[in-house]
Amino acid sequence: MANTLVILNPVAGNTRTDRVLDALEQRAERLGPYEIYETTGQEDLPALVRARRDEGFDTFIAVGGDGTVGAVAAGLVGTEARLAIVPTGTGNVIAHDAGIPNDVGDALDQISEDAPIILIDAMQVDDTYAFLNVSMGISVGVLRDADQRRKRKLGRLAYLWSGLKNLAAVSEQTVRLWIDDELHELNVSEVLVVNSPSIGVPDLSLIESRLDDGQVEVVTFRTRHLLDYVGIFLDLLLQRTRRRRTVRVFRVSSQLVVETETPADVQIDGDLEMHTPVSVRVVQHAVRLISPLGRKSDSSDVLVSQGEV
Ligand SMILES: [Mg+2]
Repeated sequence: MANTLVILNPVAGNTRTDRVLDALEQRAERLGPYEIYETTGQEDLPALVRARRDEGFDTFIAVGGDGTVGAVAAGLVGTEARLAIVPTGTGNVIAHDAGIPNDVGDALDQISEDAPIILIDAMQVDDTYAFLNVSMGISVGVLRDADQRRKRKLGRLAYLWSGLKNLAAVSEQTVRLWIDDELHELNVSEVLVVNSPSIGVPDLSLIESRLDDGQVEVVTFRTRHLLDYVGIFLDLLLQRTRRRRTVRVFRVSSQLVVETETPADVQIDGDLEMHTPVSVRVVQHAVRLISPLGRKSDSSDVLVSQGEV
């Protein structure tokens, strides 16, 4: 591995940078020569990754949380370069879903010349790529509040309050979903598009979903009361989605377009700048990710079905 670039977010989570650097150095012989780039938060990381890849780097180790990992992955879409993850963020959903160990040393030990690979899918919206989820509705309000709270450093109780406030404020609206060119018109309060089984919450896999199955899931919620949410949660947990008409799950393998009567805010992997109409293109097997799950990927027994499930 002669051409490895380590992209390290020095302010991710609470892992100390010197500990990561030590762990790298201890494995220098096996990793081969590597260069380290520390992110500033000001750069266009996908563009930087593309430029370094063009210079000949073929393995990129993203050290950080989902924000760092997603930005590095975005720069590698459609290329032969390999992505490796050392999860040090507060949110490490991609690493979790790819079976990558949480410990810095253990994660680095996964990286070698012949390490197993999975081909993860990406969701393209305009010229950006998302790897976790895209949503519209209640979740956007919760996320926006959480973002402001992070800036104001408020506590967790405020988060709960925000969730309830957004729940109370939400209203249904008519949404037109074009799923692989098939139109579904629904009254919903949430449209959630997921590429990751964890839906942003590690260890809570509610929907059968994989990072590398060439499709994404669309979950729509229809809720008027808090109790609806409790019911939906139970339905998803018990996989009873067929019974209630409050929750519907669709699979998308090519493209999803979400249209609303009036523009609605959309979040794309936590980015709150977008609104409807929004088009999500599934980029199948977009990035080569080093993952212990790669060993199993040859004998996939997942049944791929299109349309509603
Ligand atoms: Mg998938």
